[in-house]
Amino acid sequence: MSAAFAMLLQAWICAPALADNLASATAANLAGDQIRTTFRLELSAGVTAEIYTLANPYRVVVDLPDVQFRLPDGTGQDGRGLVRTFRYGLFAEGKGRVVLDTTGPVRIERAAMTAAPQGDGIVFSFDIVTTDPASFGLGTGSGKAAAESAPKAPPLAAPPTDAPKQAGKAVIMIDPGHGGIDAGAISASNLFEKDVVLAVAKELGRQLAATGRYDVRMTRASDVFISLDQRLNLSMSHGVDLFISLHADSLAEQNVAQTIRGATIYTLSERASDEQARRMAEKENASDLVAGLNVADGQGDDEVKSILFDLMKRETANFSADFSNVLVRKLKTATTLSRAPQRAAAFKVLKQTHAPSVLIELGYLSNPEDEKLLNSPAWHKQIAASITAAVDTYFAKRRTAGAPRP
Ligand code: ZN
Repeated sequence: MSAAFAMLLQAWICAPALADNLASATAANLAGDQIRTTFRLELSAGVTAEIYTLANPYRVVVDLPDVQFRLPDGTGQDGRGLVRTFRYGLFAEGKGRVVLDTTGPVRIERAAMTAAPQGDGIVFSFDIVTTDPASFGLGTGSGKAAAESAPKAPPLAAPPTDAPKQAGKAVIMIDPGHGGIDAGAISASNLFEKDVVLAVAKELGRQLAATGRYDVRMTRASDVFISLDQRLNLSMSHGVDLFISLHADSLAEQNVAQTIRGATIYTLSERASDEQARRMAEKENASDLVAGLNVADGQGDDEVKSILFDLMKRETANFSADFSNVLVRKLKTATTLSRAPQRAAAFKVLKQTHAPSVLIELGYLSNPEDEKLLNSPAWHKQIAASITAAVDTYFAKRRTAGAPRP
């Protein structure tokens, strides 16, 4: 049903003439009300789009070919009618995506790609109208069919660093969070978490490689979305010895957003160390939902997973805690730490059975002082130097402890 609908839409909105260059998107907006809401995307050239809906939570997903998004800052942050917010970006190499969060179940109508009223661009638009949960699954594609059109693990064209292991060097994977369609936290002045953590990751990669002691890998080296499963798979397939995930937090509560700041190191624990850590993991684990993946299934084998988890976590958990201890000492010299800088929660990206892993929340994009630091290349160097120092100390300790070399 859904596939047929998607095909129909494709036939409908197929490009008048596909340009040689990449099409760019220059504006996106919403019009209408709670009964019928129109989404418009202005493009430099026509493209083939595919539209479908997803439930849990209710979303509309628009898949596009490689489109360059050049939309004004703040686009999509204010909702209208049936759309709460929308976001856009690369979903995978060569694959653009727009995800609209809707207020409830909706149906797609009147999708079209037409010549712009003025200028020589193209306007891609469609309407969404309310529907009831029962008929949601009919026609526009939900559940299974939608899952088929939304690949679980979109192929990564080329893992950023896919060279064979360098003999005698510990493999360190740096994991800048979010990317592409998933911006992560956004500051008041539109600084995106995905950009901050990529900048710090690149600087950290440079500094670690410069020591000559490490074989450095990245889960992403550009502004592209990588699912949490892909991040775990990359870590596994590269046989990493240490996994460092980088993030930056943001608080919505105005009363605390101004005052709470500092870096926090998270390690994996099925039970969260405190309520804030639990909420943090929930937020970060929602990355796949944010990107428009259907992640409702695959939860049934939780029991088996937790047994496996118990068996294998012990050694890596100890090493993760060791690294966190070293890290907190080194970070203290480079930046402000949060009130409780070592916490634990069930972060999906840390569920690694083969390698110690930590997730560093570098600071709060909601705090003006932290935001300044997070946007400062000088601070990026400083924080990268302290993480590099922690990596050095950690591996020196493991060597003297007679840990087997990779
Ligand atoms: Zn994050």
